Amino acid sequence: MRTLLLLVLSMVTVVREVTAQDAQCVLERAAMVETIRSYARSHVSVLGQQGLSGRVLEAMGQTQRHLFIPERSCSIAYADMPLPIGAGQTISQPFIVALMTQLAYVAPDDVVLEVGTGSGYQAAILAHLARKVCTIEIIPQLAAAAAKTLKDLAYDNVSVRLGDGYAGWPDCGPFEAIIVTAALGHVPAPLIEQLKLGGRLVMPVGPAYTTQQLTVVEKTGPGKTTTRAASLVRFVPFTRSPDKANRRLILEQHLRSRLAGWSLAESASCSNLSASGQKLH
Ligand code: SAH
Repeated sequence: MRTLLLLVLSMVTVVREVTAQDAQCVLERAAMVETIRSYARSHVSVLGQQGLSGRVLEAMGQTQRHLFIPERSCSIAYADMPLPIGAGQTISQPFIVALMTQLAYVAPDDVVLEVGTGSGYQAAILAHLARKVCTIEIIPQLAAAAAKTLKDLAYDNVSVRLGDGYAGWPDCGPFEAIIVTAALGHVPAPLIEQLKLGGRLVMPVGPAYTTQQLTVVEKTGPGKTTTRAASLVRFVPFTRSPDKANRRLILEQHLRSRLAGWSLAESASCSNLSASGQKLH
């Protein structure tokens, strides 16, 4: 009887702690939304007088960023700063996520492509706003972790694929919006091809390891686009094919996935997975 009582008491304490932690996270997240809302007001030249839309701010307020970072700490997650997510990659600063999402003008019925899944956070934001989100990641461990996080959090309208996003994902498109979250010197032609008429592509364009121009490309007609530079940003590089370390990881992933019963593309190369890449979730 005494043991049962102690067990119940300790469970109550744990529940209280978890609830207090959750409440703290809700407060920190609300503060983050306020920070990016006011930050947006100082970016009138990019966002106009209206700033970030209510839908984008709502999605930022509903998405639990702390569950997408390794530390899972709310005090770290809701500061307006980029954070490491492993494999030398980073999750973008929340304001930049909101800015890119805003510039993509995602409507509820849209199908959206993201290149550079990373932690899955940007994909989760898009999942709140769009009908379907397809996201591609070139690093196997990140693709697998993001697919798991998104599945655990019941983001049922997101599909994650392991591969090189340069070729886009034709089977998933065409897309009303495409967001690329890694920097490259040019906009990949296959991505423009997979944009619907009137569709928007948002991407950091410029050299690696320095600042780039956050660029918005709009498809205005067959073979016609308009391009504008929105803001200076600094993103991790867009990589084209797996380096040696990645190749080893792909092979490890391959073996692990065989054990776990996943279906996986046979190739150890990520460079040509547009039609045969592994869909993780
Ligand atoms: N959007 C992510 C952050 C992305 S960081 C988030 O919300 O967490 C950029 C990501 O792009 C990295 O994970 C990197 O591995 C990935 N990447 C770089 N080149 C790529 C390519 N060619 N295809 C797909 N993903 C790529």
